[in-house]
Formats: sequence, structure tokens, C-alpha cells
Amino acid sequence: MKNVFSDVHNGFLSLFFTPLCLVCDKRLENPKSVICDDCWNKLQPIPYEKSLNKDLPENLDDVISVFVFDELFQKIVHPLKYQGKRSIGVELGVRMSGYLRLENIDKSSAVLTPIPLHPIKMRERGYNQSDLISTGLEKVLEVPVDTGILRRIKNTQTQTKLNANERKENMESAFGIGKYFNRDRIETVFLVDDVFTTGSTMNAAAKVLRENGIRKIIGITAAAAE
Ligand SMILES: [Zn+2]
Repeated sequence: MKNVFSDVHNGFLSLFFTPLCLVCDKRLENPKSVICDDCWNKLQPIPYEKSLNKDLPENLDDVISVFVFDELFQKIVHPLKYQGKRSIGVELGVRMSGYLRLENIDKSSAVLTPIPLHPIKMRERGYNQSDLISTGLEKVLEVPVDTGILRRIKNTQTQTKLNANERKENMESAFGIGKYFNRDRIETVFLVDDVFTTGSTMNAAAKVLRENGIRKIIGITAAAAE
């Protein structure tokens, strides 16, 4: 009798405590994940040709944005941004990797560099989403993450209400070269960010690397607003 009760009790508990997908509320098969495979698989990739046709910021050789910045994308990254669900960032990076073609890149002299946050913002938030995305990319692409080559020296105000020109001004001299930068070691830098909008942030970061002799700079973002 005790066992029957125990089973019912456990069934009851699991009914309420099995984690649900943060996007669609479906019960998760893998209790370690926070978003179900169905939701992840519905993300719309931007066709490769189209991703290359975006206005290219002057300091970048290429920008590759992987997913369309639609409602689903925003729902997936919301818990990463506002509820501290760091695993989403890593998973996003892993899923982005499948769409990136790096055949012409010498991986031994390439690094993945997330767009750094200012130390004050980093303290407030506790983590940098772009770091997490880079960790996911590194797992599959086998290009190492290097966070030491670039630093944020200006705590810029939020860009959401600024137009393209204001964004550019806002980002001027926001970045500086990092303490661990070593030009001889690096041929290609992949700058990693979450969303590509006007490209002003990425362009400002790329400018610093360019001025310090990096030849190839390619932006990789999880999404691009169309
Ligand atoms: Zn779901």
C-alpha cells in the first residue's frame, strides 16, 4: 500500500515539477534543457547568400548572421537575457555552428572573440551573453575563444533608442586593445555578438583590431534584424 501511495505521490510531484519549455510550456524530455528541441528547430536560418548581402561595416571583411530576429528568436533569448538562463547562450552557439562555413579559414591562427561588456555592466549582469554563445561555437567549430585581446573602455549608454548616426557616435572609442593581444599569433578574428542591427558596435570593435594589425575580421551574430 505504501508503494502505491509512493508511486502516486511521485507521479503527482513529477506532474508539477517536471520542467517545462520556457517558450511553449511543453514538458521537457531532457530535464537539463530549458527549451525543447521543437522550439529550437523552428528557428529560421537566414539564407547564407542573404546574410552576406547586408550592409557591411567598413572595418569588417564579412558579417554572418545566422537566424532571423523574429518573435520565436526573441522568446528563446528572453530567459537568457533576463532570467539568467546561461545554458541557452551555449546551446544557441552550438546550433549556430551548423550554419557556418569556415572551410577557407586557417583555424590554427583564428580566434573567437565575444564583444566585451564594460566591467561595470559585467558586474551588474554577472555574465556576457556573447561569451556564452562563443563557448557554444567553440565546442563545434574547434576555434578557441579568446577574451583577452579586446576590452570595453567606455560604459556606453543603451543603443535601443538611438538612430544609426547616434549609435556610431555612441560607440566611438568604446573599445581598446586587450592586455593579452598578440598580433603574431592571430590571423583571423571572429567577433561574436547576439544581434546585428546597424553594426556600429561590431564596427567599433573591429576598428581597434584593424588598427593593431589584424588582417581578417569576420562578425558572427546569432540573429539579424531584417
Ligand atoms: Zn518548446
